[in-house]
Amino acid sequence: MTKIAPSILAADLSKINSEVINVDKAGAEYIHIDVMDGHYVPNITFGPNMVKTLRPITKKILDVHLMITPVMPSINAFIDAGADIISFHPEADDNPNAIIQTIKNTNCKAGIAIHPDVEIQAIQDFLNDIDLVIVMTVMPGFGGQKFLDGQLSKIKKLNNMRKLTKAKFEIEIDGGINEITSKHCIANGADVL
Ligand code: ZN
Repeated sequence: MTKIAPSILAADLSKINSEVINVDKAGAEYIHIDVMDGHYVPNITFGPNMVKTLRPITKKILDVHLMITPVMPSINAFIDAGADIISFHPEADDNPNAIIQTIKNTNCKAGIAIHPDVEIQAIQDFLNDIDLVIVMTVMPGFGGQKFLDGQLSKIKKLNNMRKLTKAKFEIEIDGGINEITSKHCIANGADVL
């Protein structure tokens, strides 16, 4: 079964409690939290306080997607806030392997996110060590964008690489998901939308 990870970027923040309770009850497995720093991306959204706020509201997986640079100085704050999965963009920091190990030394799972302009080859070396790959199918920075069809081949490639290796990561698709694009993602091997 495909898992659903609604992004709180699409929530009405004035009633974030009920928004999260509603998607929890509706069957969402993950609550996706898009963290933007005004530096890796032009927009600014939430920090660890948002994770801390949501933690008592839901037992579902808090799926934190860091669009920040550098990454390492903020990792412990997100772990302490109660994140279940922390994903980051490897080109946003000097030592992605150290970040993965820091996350995995706790009860947290580690993920790598792929910017639409980054190729699979750039993240290949991490695939055996991570729990999740986020394939971005919009340009990071803002919600509500149109799905980039060109990214479907990346999903397929990742799925094939997973089949050929012992890697066990989930493939999550981030951005522009609707009734039509969701079918294309699932057909190419997506696990989480
Ligand atoms: Zn995201």
